[in-house]
Amino acid sequence: MKQLQLKDYRGHIEKLIFSTALYKEIIIDLDITTESTYETIGYDDEDIPDIISFESFIESQDIQLLKKMVGINTTVVGYCPFCGKLESIKLECKKIDKYMLNNILNTNHINSEEQYDFEYNCAEKKQIERLKEFKQKYLDNENTFTIKAICTKKHIAKIIFYITDDYNLIKIGQYPSTINYDQTLKEYNKIINKNDIYEIRKAIGLKSHDVGVAAFVYLRRVFEKLIYAAYKEYDSDFTNDRVTKKKFKNLHMEEKIKKLDKYLPKHLKDNIHIYGILSKGIHELTEKECLRYFDDLYDAIIIILKEKKKLDDDKIFKKNNADNIKDIATKTLNKKNKS
Ligand SMILES: [Zn+2]
Repeated sequence: MKQLQLKDYRGHIEKLIFSTALYKEIIIDLDITTESTYETIGYDDEDIPDIISFESFIESQDIQLLKKMVGINTTVVGYCPFCGKLESIKLECKKIDKYMLNNILNTNHINSEEQYDFEYNCAEKKQIERLKEFKQKYLDNENTFTIKAICTKKHIAKIIFYITDDYNLIKIGQYPSTINYDQTLKEYNKIINKNDIYEIRKAIGLKSHDVGVAAFVYLRRVFEKLIYAAYKEYDSDFTNDRVTKKKFKNLHMEEKIKKLDKYLPKHLKDNIHIYGILSKGIHELTEKECLRYFDDLYDAIIIILKEKKKLDDDKIFKKNNADNIKDIATKTLNKKNKS
């Protein structure tokens, strides 16, 4: 898996704060950069300026970003799980002293490569000293800091980060939890309920923490709910040839799928083994095997949801159109009859 880097979040601090997974180490790049400045110190007889250059050694950009996270109040556009939409969110932090935000470590006129190396080493040492002071002064006792995120409706979220001894960053706490910030499944909230979406996210979360069997449990639950949702549709369509819920419950999954044939997405019917594999995962497969197969089974559920959404949308589209045609027919054909 790709190592997370703080530099990937420059300009997208809200992603780092709200969307990164807990306990993933984010590498802070400590590389110092340099900047040249020029100064005219006088003019010779022919009025040609005598210019001297200075080299400034600048704190790593990641350290600068880290300081901003810890010590500068700022406003971002981010998702508020309480409002259920994007909001203007104020990030409240600790106030840090102005001198700590100065990012120039040292500046000097450089005469030789040796001097450059010497100045570079000094800057590196200074950066570490300042980091130590920064940690001591502005982090909590356990090397953590908390960001308070407040939306315009005054909803409050809290995110806690930890800085490791070798200066990397780990998110160790978030309320509301990261699951509530994930919007990738939102498009399916009309075909499955909020709790089902939560369970799919739970499955993804468990997989990302290398917990395979439990992730399978959540996928299987979602699969079962899709079957029972189809049964509900089927049940309301028939008055005579009904199968009672109790009878239906006792059928094997393959029989259930056969019974509900025209109410189910094609991908579910074409891949009848999905449920069997999920069950096998829960009862017999190892954690490693479940992890290896997770992505394909997750994709299967997503394809089924996509198909179901399309079926539902088509159904609504057709029904609306049929209602409209009926309405037009009443108006136009009746009129014709009268004339
Ligand atoms: Zn809000």
